[in-house]
Amino acid sequence: MQINDLPYDLPDRRGHFGPYGGVFVSETLIEALEALKRAYERARNDPAFVAEFEYELKHYVGRPSPIYHAKRWSEVLGGAQILLKREDLNHTGAHKINNTVGQALLARRMAKPRVIAETGAGQHGVAAATVAARYGMQCVVYMGSEDVKRQAANVERMALLGASVVPVESGSKTLKDALNEAMRDWVTNVANTFYIIGTVAGPHPYPMMVRDFQSVIGRECLAQMAEMFGRQPDAVIACVGGGSNAMGIFYPYIRNAGVKLIGVEAAGFGLASGKHAASLAAGKPGVLHGNRTYVLQDGHGQILETHSISAGLDYPGVGPEHAWLKDSGRAEYVTVDDRGALASFHDLCRYEGIIPALESAHALAYAARIAPSMPREALLLVNLSGRGDKDMHTVMEHARERS
Ligand SMILES: *Cc1c(COP(=O)(O)O)cnc(C)c1O
Repeated sequence: MQINDLPYDLPDRRGHFGPYGGVFVSETLIEALEALKRAYERARNDPAFVAEFEYELKHYVGRPSPIYHAKRWSEVLGGAQILLKREDLNHTGAHKINNTVGQALLARRMAKPRVIAETGAGQHGVAAATVAARYGMQCVVYMGSEDVKRQAANVERMALLGASVVPVESGSKTLKDALNEAMRDWVTNVANTFYIIGTVAGPHPYPMMVRDFQSVIGRECLAQMAEMFGRQPDAVIACVGGGSNAMGIFYPYIRNAGVKLIGVEAAGFGLASGKHAASLAAGKPGVLHGNRTYVLQDGHGQILETHSISAGLDYPGVGPEHAWLKDSGRAEYVTVDDRGALASFHDLCRYEGIIPALESAHALAYAARIAPSMPREALLLVNLSGRGDKDMHTVMEHARERS
């Protein structure tokens, strides 16, 4: 099934994707990361681990997720056919569970009874709390106290699942402060604690490991596209927050030069407004969350506050592999603003009977932008990373503001 047009063997042994990635952490964590790297290497080459992961993806997560041909919406747009990879149908409603299952299984192998996570919108916190309950582990989730207020429903979900949520009061009381607090906990409790990172970021081996766990998305697409259409899509489109759903669907296609890879960042109120979350479009290389990548920062290297209508895209960095894919030209990165995402959110509800996550609506909006000028035979595969029930409140508020 592998298509070998291009050589691609990244990251290198030290976690570099060209000039990006690597390990930028305090001395005390180096040994923990080395141990993680060894454990992951062993696990990925162990048929028993792979079989267990696949079993859980099938019976707990509900994989494989289907590809759905959005025929009515494609007809309305009048050009390329839009196909949706339905990650919204997974248990807990998004792609994040693929990765948390993988990391929890690894934590269990490493005999770590306690897992920690940090979360902004709360989605990764819920996915981490879910697997902690499933495998009987203690779970602590760090969350900025501003986010705790804004995301009350997810805080309640985590509590129901048995996790303790620790509100972080430092700095701007949002995700970047929760990141620091989680790192601090890990340094202190590294002997019994596994840090579950929710996207393709963090120090090596996290970006590689999360990509590998999420790449089940793209591998399924290779087989499903061949079966449904007898060929692969002309382009694969995914939204990019930290970049895990995008890496998951891109990775198996990287060597297939005939397939365009398009990542969509959140332009919020517009790039010119400064209120956005487009790290690749408007950031500069720097260090965040233990790796070198594109970061939204001011002239003094201070991390900037981000804005997007979708809380899940509100991250001031981006996975280092995306930084590399951008610079190398293998993937293209574009932006969609709040208004564009909302319009496609409503389109998918009305034309297809699917309520998408606002994050995924950014990818839908870019597909809707390019589809009309493409021939009807063209195939655009969009990663529908999650369902939109969690966004009802936000969408209704916007509808009220407009009326
Ligand atoms: C968290 C989230 C994202 C953004 O995270 P990535 O790591 O960029 O995939 C996108 N879509 C949904 C539904 C999410 O919950």
